[in-house]
Amino acid sequence: MTSTRTLPWDFDGDKLREECGIFGVIGTRDAASVVALGLHALQHRGQEAVGITSFDGTEFYSRRGLGHVTENFSSAAVLAELPGEMAAGHVRYSTTGGSGLRNVQPLFADLARGGFAIAHNGNISNALHLKHELVNKGAIFQSTSDTEVIIHLIATSRYPTLLDRFIDALRMVEGAYSLVCMTPKRMIACRDPLGIRPLVMGRIGDATVFASETVALDIVGAEFVREIEPGELVEVRQDGRISSHRPFGQVSPRPCIFEHVYFSRPDSVMGGRSVYEVRKRIGVELARESAIDADLIVPVPDSGVPAAIGFAQQSGIPFELGIIRSHYVGRTFIQPTDGARHAGVKRKHNANRAIVAGKRIVLIDDSIVRGTTSLQIVQMMRDAGAKEVHFRVASPPTEHSCFYGVDTPERSKLLAAQMDVAAMSAFIQADSLAFVSIDGLYRAVGEAQRNAASPQHCDACFTGDYPTRLTDLSEREVPAQLTMLAERAA
Ligand code: SF4
Repeated sequence: MTSTRTLPWDFDGDKLREECGIFGVIGTRDAASVVALGLHALQHRGQEAVGITSFDGTEFYSRRGLGHVTENFSSAAVLAELPGEMAAGHVRYSTTGGSGLRNVQPLFADLARGGFAIAHNGNISNALHLKHELVNKGAIFQSTSDTEVIIHLIATSRYPTLLDRFIDALRMVEGAYSLVCMTPKRMIACRDPLGIRPLVMGRIGDATVFASETVALDIVGAEFVREIEPGELVEVRQDGRISSHRPFGQVSPRPCIFEHVYFSRPDSVMGGRSVYEVRKRIGVELARESAIDADLIVPVPDSGVPAAIGFAQQSGIPFELGIIRSHYVGRTFIQPTDGARHAGVKRKHNANRAIVAGKRIVLIDDSIVRGTTSLQIVQMMRDAGAKEVHFRVASPPTEHSCFYGVDTPERSKLLAAQMDVAAMSAFIQADSLAFVSIDGLYRAVGEAQRNAASPQHCDACFTGDYPTRLTDLSEREVPAQLTMLAERAA
């Protein structure tokens, strides 16, 4: 088999990508420096742009840039331009790469009750609908981000206090949102009623910290306090007083199960469980469900490693690093031509020929999206002399797009939406292919099984069972997220 076949899909970004990470701190000197460090720990949640907004008791200060945190916030001079004891920041992944600074968060607006900054992880699934209504009433949008809708809803709310206006605005939006916001008097953190995207709270001394994942608390030296509950709004005043509000009533939560599979860092703790341990557990379930006689378990680095360890421990087949990843290769999607992108995957992953030659290997990866990278990796193993190449996947087939802040290809580009497992196996040229079952995934996150009548998580990309209305989708019948739609139209 050769690797010269023309691929029907571009393999770039052949993973689902979390679109954002957020971080905020109130009550410490040099708050912006703490935020920069926290965002650095969340860099895996968005590498296209980064922003920090601070407040020094009188003024808000903002700096936003394209690229990584270290490219924008590593100099003392830059951080000195963001004074104050309260700051919030955001890392963003942009699907178009050309969206420019206007969409980089935190977004800021001078409202009638004072300045308001907002950093958002998630996606509002009725943002286009709301935006049309607001524009018809005279609103003028500065960005194409769905997050700006929240600012306009606050601005036009008739409630007297900023907090009530904020709650009023959130009652109108549907979809996924974890937010860290700043007003001149307080920091507000909240999660949508279903808690689709994560958000945790910690403390450093007297300061309160909010972050998308616990790893960011670890890195800044903060102690984990608790998760922000689904539907909870936590308000921290400048004097340190903390109050919790639950304006949405009780709803059964549906946190994103894919955070456990891929998005979160393995050294984070989510829903009280170590992400690393859950991933190993998925490997155990996978080995139980789709055992195979083989010589080696080989992870697709880096995200397949914990599941491969679990698979190896359960099956008794030795674990080996049969693929070595270079950490010094630029991201493939900035390469200008198909040829350069193709070379990019080979430079990033290389077969460990001495280990795989002549062996029957089981490749373990976290997911298959378009399938193009999987095909390349199978070919790479065969080129290195592997006798058999079996593929095992630590998530169920990804058949549906996500509308909750994760960049997914249109459904027509998802391999599992087009083919059954046997056809997918043929497409990636594996000797066999199997996915962990949805119940196996639920067992790995600590449930007995998926509760079909009331699922414990959002798992819509596997099941098509979306936990919210998708107003924009149903009105437009275009399976894309707001930001993409608006930018295409621009
Ligand atoms: S659709 Fe998938 S990726 Fe999106 S929130 Fe739900 S489980 Fe997570």
